[in-house]
Amino acid sequence: MEKREQMYEGKAKKVFATDNDDYCIVSYKDDATAFNGEKKGTILGKGVVNNRMSNFMFKLLETKGIPTDYVEELSDRETVLKKVNIVPLEVIIRNKAAGSFSKRFGIPEGTDFNEPTLEFCLKDDSLGDPMINESQIYAIGAATKEEIARISEYAYKINEVMVEFFKSVNVDLIDFKIEFGRFHGEILLADEISPDTCRFWDVNTQEKLDKDRFRRDMGGVEDAYAEMMKRVGLAD
Ligand code: UDP
Repeated sequence: MEKREQMYEGKAKKVFATDNDDYCIVSYKDDATAFNGEKKGTILGKGVVNNRMSNFMFKLLETKGIPTDYVEELSDRETVLKKVNIVPLEVIIRNKAAGSFSKRFGIPEGTDFNEPTLEFCLKDDSLGDPMINESQIYAIGAATKEEIARISEYAYKINEVMVEFFKSVNVDLIDFKIEFGRFHGEILLADEISPDTCRFWDVNTQEKLDKDRFRRDMGGVEDAYAEMMKRVGLAD
């Protein structure tokens, strides 16, 4: 596979074309943003953690029947992916209250839920990724009913697999954001699963091991990402 011109540069990664129209190459950066790009910084080594952890999780999920866009890890920061059309939704699953959920509904962080929640936000930075319900999704044509049925089924299954896996390495999966893509008529898990996109709390101490340390200026950000690499079994 030959790497060609850069197609896109986002907040945390660059995407390159390849000589095959069905594939692209993603390159993870150390750049970090929060609050819709208002807060900017660098988390040293983050690109390596996110690339390798995301690939590890996508491979695990494939074994559990979730189709993903993962193809091949090329290096610490670069991976070949199927070139999908991203469904313009952020799909969020929560197991405990935190972040915007706690704020919106006045429920303290860490409060247990009777069952996981599923919510959708429209991917649009200029609007601040507003929450959107299913009827609104169909009204504007962001996704079809069949696609949302498939995405919801996958999202709950992904949560089950991830909760069980992270519990086994002493981590509570509080919530996470995933994205899906369309590839030759199929819905695939796309984007990334990493400490940038999940809330990870140590089971015993409830210490935060994710991007909230950056968002909230808590310090120890690099150490938290490195600790998650170790727990997942990817540390050198
Ligand atoms: N999240 C994300 N990208 C976003 C917004 C949220 O990856 O643009 C993740 C976030 O890391 C957390 C989950 O989705 O694991 C729920 O985030 P929330 O809605 O509470 O928003 P936040 O408090 O992060 O603004």
